[in-house]
Amino acid sequence: MGERNLLSGLIRLHILHHAAHEPIFGLGIIEELGQHGYKLSAGTLYPILHGLEKSGYVSSRTELVAGRQRRLYVITESGKSVLALAKTKVWELFRELFEDELRFSTAGRVDEQGTVELAGTSSSRAAVKAKPRKRKASL
Ligand SMILES: [Zn+2]
Repeated sequence: MGERNLLSGLIRLHILHHAAHEPIFGLGIIEELGQHGYKLSAGTLYPILHGLEKSGYVSSRTELVAGRQRRLYVITESGKSVLALAKTKVWELFRELFEDELRFSTAGRVDEQGTVELAGTSSSRAAVKAKPRKRKASL
């Protein structure tokens, strides 16, 4: 449970990301998240979807699919801006978490439109590498 608590923000971001691209529904999202290694039951997912809707980040409507009512969720304008904000935070976190493993420079940034600017030309990569060495020498 503690693990799910820690990961719940990531799950919400996954959901918002997909709801920004197309209308999503519970079982579809459970499958999609399953492919990323998140095993969610309907009993866990639906409260998350309802919470996102209550916060105004997604809105829902029902549609008749093969004789059954299916609830579809789409991102709202407010959901889009919170997702854009979260993307800048995820970018920063990603850089820090993988600082040592990354073979390319992430000195770039992601803007509110989700555009990623990598500062990763080969010359700037060399510059990024050279900096810490200089700093160490001056200590
Ligand atoms: Zn996904």
